[in-house]
Amino acid sequence: MSEPLLYHSTRGVTSGARIDEVIAAGLAPDGGLYVPEALPRLDLAAFDPHGSLADTASCLLMPFFAGHALADELPAICAEAFTFNAPLRPLPHHPGASMLELFHGPSAAFKDFGARFLASCFRRLHRKDPRPLTILVATSGDTGAAVAAAFHRQPGVQVVILYPDGLVSPRQAHQLGCFGENVQALRVSGRFDDCQRMVKAALNDAALQAQRPLSSANSISLGRLLPQMAYYAHAALRWHHEHHRPLNFIVPTGNLGNALACLWVREMGLPVGQVELTCNANETLSDYFAGAPYTPRAAVATLANAMDVGAPSNFERLRWTFPHDADLRRQVHAHSVDDATIRDTVLFHAADHHEVFCPHTATAMHRLDQLKGAQDAWTVVATAHPAKFESVIEPLLGRPVPVPSALAAMLNRSAQAEPLEASDEALKRWLLDSGESIEARRAS
Ligand SMILES: *Cc1c(COP(=O)(O)O)cnc(C)c1O
Repeated sequence: MSEPLLYHSTRGVTSGARIDEVIAAGLAPDGGLYVPEALPRLDLAAFDPHGSLADTASCLLMPFFAGHALADELPAICAEAFTFNAPLRPLPHHPGASMLELFHGPSAAFKDFGARFLASCFRRLHRKDPRPLTILVATSGDTGAAVAAAFHRQPGVQVVILYPDGLVSPRQAHQLGCFGENVQALRVSGRFDDCQRMVKAALNDAALQAQRPLSSANSISLGRLLPQMAYYAHAALRWHHEHHRPLNFIVPTGNLGNALACLWVREMGLPVGQVELTCNANETLSDYFAGAPYTPRAAVATLANAMDVGAPSNFERLRWTFPHDADLRRQVHAHSVDDATIRDTVLFHAADHHEVFCPHTATAMHRLDQLKGAQDAWTVVATAHPAKFESVIEPLLGRPVPVPSALAAMLNRSAQAEPLEASDEALKRWLLDSGESIEARRAS
């Protein structure tokens, strides 16, 4: 058997980590993002083209886990995490094109896949480390709900969610605040980038960590990124089995987690063809891919709020994957789609095709529309159910969007969130104070 795969940080200081350590930690100690020493190469013949999504996930992820603590349990972890499908649905009005629907999980967005996989891993890792763990999540809306749903009532785990106050949809805010028990929502008076910075600062604070062990469940965690590869592999393998050619993807993009998963699947040798990224009016990536130097900036608020990111955290991993700018710009392209175009796209497809998409998915639909006669073998990645973004979609259409049952169940519970100032110090104080009250409750 070959040597187990080890992991190092994109910043190069941390090296030789095992997958269980990587998943437990979230962020590398040097502040970088964990990556494998090299991406494994996979053999198409190793996959069962008629297997389930969980089977594909297990086969795909085994090289990342082989030789490490969780390897034996990987099939069970995948079976627990991948309990709903990611169907590839033909788009009747776009010959040869399809939609990869990633919104059939409990929170109705693709983040459910990664969050549930991470929770399954943590359940097993936690058996080995009995100290209570606090999972910090910065969210522009959807991550928080997925992580909350995945970890709700999990013993030994507290979840603290930070979201930008007023910048998520009312239904998203409700989803974040409706869990209670071991899940606490904080509404931060700032933007998503502030929430993300505060979480990173807390995770890098050794003194704080000594008092209250912390981990992250953000898209920076490899424990979320790796399982996201499964639905790309599954769709591409099925397509290839039927059509004997690769499948091309258009991926709505914010922090680059979902898109990177797609690109890694292609790097590993599976039949993913071209990959296009669509962004909203946050143009950091589209400017870079048009040839400008990479320039992170403050995020602007758009209709596709889960993509309101000005400094995509996974860019470090993209650079690691394709270190030379010219090569990176050949591997993938990015297009920015403004709010007016998102509105037009939603309206056009609802009126002409009776199809309703969420605002994020609409950015990718717009790109598909631009491909006109060349849509064959292209797939639009549908990242969320439109009912999650009712405040954008319903006024446009002038009618309600039917709510999937899991989402409806969440919306029937009451919800609450505490306000928090957008400073690193404020989060630290909150964690120490609430940590003490957890201790006090336990002692009494
Ligand atoms: C998170 C999210 C995105 C962006 O995904 P990244 O991995 O951050 O690029 C797009 N659409 C929806 C609905 C999301 O929740």
